[in-house]
Formats: sequence, structure tokens, C-alpha cells
Amino acid sequence: ERRGMHRIDPATGDALEPVAEHDAEDVDAALDEATAAFESWSDTRLEERRRLLTEAADVLRDRTEEFARLMTREMGKPIEGARAEVEKSAWGLDHYAEHAPEYLADEHIGTEAGTKSFVSYEPLGPVLAVMPWNYPFWQVFRFAAPNLVAGNVGLLKHASNVPECALAIESVFEEAGFPEGVFRTLVVGSERAEEVIRDDRVRAVTLTGSEPAGRAVGGAAGEELKPSVLELGGSDPFVVLDDADLAAAASVGASARTLNSGQSCIAAKRFVVHTDVYDEFLERFVAEMESLVVGDPTDEGTDVGPQAREDLMAEVHEQVTASVEAGATVETGGEPLDRDGFFYPPTVLTDVPRDAPLGCEEVFGPAAAVFEVESEAAAVELANDSDLGLGASVWTEDLERGERVARRIESGGVFVNELTKSDPRLPFGGIKDSGYGRELARQGIRAFLNEKTVWVQ
Ligand code: NDP
Repeated sequence: ERRGMHRIDPATGDALEPVAEHDAEDVDAALDEATAAFESWSDTRLEERRRLLTEAADVLRDRTEEFARLMTREMGKPIEGARAEVEKSAWGLDHYAEHAPEYLADEHIGTEAGTKSFVSYEPLGPVLAVMPWNYPFWQVFRFAAPNLVAGNVGLLKHASNVPECALAIESVFEEAGFPEGVFRTLVVGSERAEEVIRDDRVRAVTLTGSEPAGRAVGGAAGEELKPSVLELGGSDPFVVLDDADLAAAASVGASARTLNSGQSCIAAKRFVVHTDVYDEFLERFVAEMESLVVGDPTDEGTDVGPQAREDLMAEVHEQVTASVEAGATVETGGEPLDRDGFFYPPTVLTDVPRDAPLGCEEVFGPAAAVFEVESEAAAVELANDSDLGLGASVWTEDLERGERVARRIESGGVFVNELTKSDPRLPFGGIKDSGYGRELARQGIRAFLNEKTVWVQ
């Protein structure tokens, strides 16, 4: 039973000690505290809020090893990636500590002569974050950093398989010296999220997760007339044009597919390759995928660890199997590893029908589909033939061509000659069924602010 806070170590299949859930009274008290905390926090000087963000970044850096091991244990992230995630979370805090004055400054807009008119950016109140297990620290800090520095207070409902990460994150803000109630973790399962979203004390909600979760959370927020940001799945195209650097494209492509053991919303999932370079790219790409080290996530040098939960690995395998039944060819991988834990190998499929799972669904594991196309136009057509639109990557030595193709791709972001990645300096989010709204950068901090017009005659 995965609901509730029963956890399994994905590297071994052994049960970890359950973490106690919060009951209705705990949640009620946390919401009262958040409401009270907002009164004073929103009135606290920006310099003080910025200082506390920097303190939180220091706490993260001091406790990197502890937090990295925790992620590895709860969701199986390879240890080096886990350390990098703690550092990136600290970067997110530092970014908003540094740029908040600029992002939150009044925006003056000239109107009638003799009048003063401007936009003032003001916090809304307690914001609920429903977060996933795949980047258990980063996803939370990329929500918390902009919101807390802007004067909102944070409530976290983390995924049920990472409750210790959730409590550790709360402890970071405590240790940094944030006033009580400014950031609280609610240890509750998804079946109890709706009552929190609908509670009058909660003013907005952000979710990163699956499409069904997005529809549920966005639906409830909509009914309550509360703003929401939804960052859902992706089926990102990785377009290799006929003039691409194939060695780089194959090596970065393999990383882009298998990053975080394949469990990333912005992982490259559909490889769209020009026919002139198809054979060579495929050969190089399969070799790169086969060279990755699959193993114990606590081992230094492991590239691909276990899938985070048994049901998630089973789903990836079902998607691969159904695609093969529909006519796809397995170039490498394709079967769960015969060992304890939930290990799935880097897998490459060709001849994938577009309506087979690997052609049209989000595949949250290290399995890639490689498609052959006749032209640039056909590449763009295939890239856009998806209900999802999160990220994309385009490979070409002609940078103008790269930019041109980037503008034609339907997604929230496109990277030319690089894998899609999130960066606190750049907005991040999707279109179509990948969700709406933006996180990070100036755009992200404004998601949950009152953009108040002030006119002074
Ligand atoms: P979920 O979307 O179920 O989980 C993400 C978060 O949403 C968790 O905190 C979860 O809580 C919560 N949640 C789920 N359903 C609801 C609901 N109806 N109302 C409120 N909150 C809800 O993802 P899974 O872990 O089940 O993964 C399934 C698939 O989702 C993956 O295979 C992948 O395709 C996609 N996914 C995408 C992510 C991304 O980064 N965009 C991240 C994670 C998953 P709880 O854990 O308590 O159920």
C-alpha cells in the first residue's frame, strides 16, 4: 500500500519505517499558524526576508550530505545527482535573495500628465504547494524561494513516498531562523489535499505532477476562484537535424533521457532524427545508452538508479511492452533487471507507431523512442504532434536554423544544442496538457502576487 506514508527503499524493495501522518487537527492548526504568520511576514522588511533566504541556502549547503542521502534512500536518486540537487536548491534561494528587489520593484507606467501611476507587487497569503517525489528538494525550493521572499507563506503537501524529505525541508527554514508558520509541511496523502485547497485560509495552489493530479488540483482551485500554477508532464522532442554534431547529440541525448533515472518532466522522450543522419545517430545513441552504469544509487559513479516506486517501474514496462506489441523494435533494454529493487535499464525503441504509448504518452523512466523523418518540416510536425508541450531540444550546427526551428516548436521552452534544464534565471513551464503558468525568474515570482494598480492624481 503506497498511500499513507508507508515507504519502500526502491534500491532494495525493503520497507522503510512509516512516517506518521498529520491528522485534521494538525492541519487546522498549521493553517491557523500560516494565517497568523502571513500578517507579520508580509509586513517584514524585504531586506530581512532576503537575509533569511540566504541563511536557508547556508543551511542547505552545510547539510548537503545528509539531505542527499535522504533523497537517495526515499526515492533512489543516484547520490551525485542528489548532492547537485541540494546545491541547485541553494542557488534558487540565493537567486531570489539577490534579485527580489528588482523583481518586486514598483513598475511605473506613464499615463496622464501630472498623475503618478504604477503597479505594486503584493503577496496574497498562504500558498499550498503539492509537490512530486522526483526532485524532492529542488521542486519545493523553486516554489518556496520566490514566494517567501515576496511575502507569501508556504504550505507543502509533498508526495507520499518522500515524507522525510518534506520534514527535512521544513527544518531548513526553522534552522535558518524563519518565523514560525512561514513554511509548514503537512504530512497528508493526496486524498486530503482537496480540503486544504478549498480552505478559505489558503489563497493559491501550485502543483507539479501528473495530468490527473493537475486536473483535480486545477479543478478544485478553479471552483474556489483561486489562482493556480500547474507543471505537469512532458513528452519532449529531441530533434536531430542533418547538420547536427552527432557525437554531442548522442551523448547529451542519452543524458537527457536518463537524467534522474529517466524520471524528469523535461527529459528528452521522443528522438526525432533526420533521415540523412538517422543510422549514425542511432548507432551512437544506443552505444551511449548501453555505456551508462545502472546500479546502487549510493555508489559514486552510478548513472541510472532504481525507479522510485514499483508501480512506476511497472508502468514504464507496460508502455514499452505495449509499444512493442504495436510494432516497435527493441534496440536495447526492454526488460526490468533481475535483481532486488526497481531497476529498469536504459531502453531504446525504433519503429514506434505514433499512437503507441512511447509515441504519445509521457514515459517516466529511461526508455526512448527514436523516429526517422525526411525533412526539417517533418521534424517540426512530429515534434508538435503531442498533447503535451513542456520542453524541447534541437540539434544543428546552424544557429539561425536552430532559432527558426525553436520558434516553431509548441512548448514552454526550447534549448538549441543543449538539453532542456531548469535555471532560476529563466522562466519554466508548459503549454497544452503540460499545464499553465510559469515558475522561476521574474515570471515565477509574479505567479502569486497581487499586481495592484495604483493611480495618484
Ligand atoms: P502524482 O501526480 O500522483 O503525484 C504528484 C503529487 O500530486 C503528489 O504530491 C501526489 O500526492 C499529489 N496528488 C496526486 N493526485 C492528487 C489529487 N487528486 N489531488 C491532489 N494531489 C494529488 O504522480 P505519481 O507519483 O503517481 O506519478 C505518476 C506519473 O506522474 C509519473 O509516471 C509521471 O508521468 C507523472 N509525474 C510528473 C512529474 C513532473 O515532474 N511533471 C512528477 C511526478 C510524476 P500523493 O503522493 O500523496 O499521491
